[in-house]
Amino acid sequence: MAHTVTFIPGDGTGPELAEATRRVLEATCVPFTWDRREAGLDEYERSGNPFPDETLDSIKRNRVGIKGPTTTPVGSGHRSINVLLRRELDLYACIRPCKAYDGVRTRFPETDIVIVRENTEDLYAGIEFERGTPENAELRADLEKLGAKVREDAGISIKPISVFGSERIARAAFEYARANGRRKVTAAHKANIMKFSDGLFLEVSRRVAEDYPDLEFEDRIIDNLCNQLVSRPEEYDVIVLPNLYGDIVSDLGAGMVGGLGVAPGANIGTEAAMFEATHGSAPKYKGQNKVNPTALMLSGVLMLRHLGESDAADRLESAIAAVIRQGDRVTYDLKPTRDDPTAVGTSEFADAVIEEMP
Ligand code: NAD
Repeated sequence: MAHTVTFIPGDGTGPELAEATRRVLEATCVPFTWDRREAGLDEYERSGNPFPDETLDSIKRNRVGIKGPTTTPVGSGHRSINVLLRRELDLYACIRPCKAYDGVRTRFPETDIVIVRENTEDLYAGIEFERGTPENAELRADLEKLGAKVREDAGISIKPISVFGSERIARAAFEYARANGRRKVTAAHKANIMKFSDGLFLEVSRRVAEDYPDLEFEDRIIDNLCNQLVSRPEEYDVIVLPNLYGDIVSDLGAGMVGGLGVAPGANIGTEAAMFEATHGSAPKYKGQNKVNPTALMLSGVLMLRHLGESDAADRLESAIAAVIRQGDRVTYDLKPTRDDPTAVGTSEFADAVIEEMP
């Protein structure tokens, strides 16, 4: 039976990348029914709403979607579609594999890690008290009664980390590790300083680890983890982190394996799973058939695995890896210099992947 998937092209270079990805996914011979829906800047300009209800309803119905990047205007316009999606669908786990493929220029060729980032809590929960407001003064007064003095001219951001949030993200990391043949989960934290937030995250992660005796578990203080990732990346496997550290380490990981053009992602929740590249809409290249579709294609590989199509996922991943390894039919960012005249476009890269499909 065909998999029905919500297909959101996005804006900027999104539609070109999404089309290339749709073609390679179909070339695996897995049957798909694409429920095409709009979101992003183009839709905002057309209808005044960047995220129509039909799009959200479609994802809720199909429970799985793949999405091209969408632009978030700075300062004015609409809110980030990605933030809306995460909130509306409770997409609490962000999964970002960072694997160095042969042929990509990287200083860290041994890297093959998976970052599992908590998406809903921590300093990104949006609980903030602006300097100089009555709410800020009230909070500081209450804190003072509790023995915590905060300077009058301070802005305050609150860092909530719960048992509920920590348990489900730790479980997501172990389940991912088990389903994908990984051997170890590392929890990253700063529990030595933030005993009641990061300390709780660590305590819950340790408890969850006991339910997975087939997998190794260890923990690292976040600064030490960053140091070790760039000195001994081969020692790391699946890494689970609270929201802020996860955000930073995801970009570190993307940089370690060759940059944004090759960094895929998945946001998984209780209601649905959404697959998309780490990078943005790169609007300056819109319509030029220029940018690298690898990140969205590899997000498609994650989607295939999520749908239980592991054979197709392996074949698509190995076709992408072969094209990158050969290096002749790749986009500008994978060439030795960015103005290399032999670089191919987005759609020709997809043609090459389809030709290489085993
Ligand atoms: P960006 O990732 O779009 O682009 C930054 C630069 O990275 C580009 O100029 C380009 O040189 C390079 N790059 C990005 N993707 C590439 C690819 N596939 N192939 C080759 N090179 C690539 O980041 P930005 O310019 O900061 O953001 C543009 C817009 O995208 C913003 O509105 C931002 O809010 C949005 N954004 C969306 C998402 C998403 O939809 N998931 C994620 C991040 C940013």
